[in-house]
Amino acid sequence: MRFHRRPLAASPFRSFFARPVTDPPEERPPQVTGVNLHGSLQLRHVDVGSCNGCEVEITSALGPSYDAGQFGARLVASPRHADGLLVTGVVTHNMEGPLRQTLAALPRPAVVVACGDCAVNGGIFRGAQGVSAILGELLTPDVVIPGCPPHPSDIVRALRTLSGR
Ligand code: SF4
Repeated sequence: MRFHRRPLAASPFRSFFARPVTDPPEERPPQVTGVNLHGSLQLRHVDVGSCNGCEVEITSALGPSYDAGQFGARLVASPRHADGLLVTGVVTHNMEGPLRQTLAALPRPAVVVACGDCAVNGGIFRGAQGVSAILGELLTPDVVIPGCPPHPSDIVRALRTLSGR
């Protein structure tokens, strides 16, 4: 009995062997500040208008695979307990007020981390209906993590520069 190899195009496993049709992502490392919180970084996360893609990657960065917690970084429920803000998304009309209130509730000094292209420069939602501002127009972020969404390893790398671990 003879076996005939199926053409690759018809094989259900073709995606294992075919080259990807997209280019590799451009390397855009996080831009960081000289702040060092000496081992512990508590962040209050504020989503001011994200598509939730960045939140998925933040969850990964803090989960068991990338484990930002081992470097001292974690999210807290109240800005009163936080060293800073982790902001995702472009600032929408509905969230500009809550962002300002959260910022005012932070103990000083506080750091601000802009996570994802939307927070960095408006990303794909720049100029869209419902957008109030870009985060950089309201305040100056201390750490900028570009990417749409940023890779969890880039998020961990940026948070480690703040926690100093
Ligand atoms: S940067 Fe990309 S993934 Fe993150 S909120 Fe904006 S569109 Fe979504």
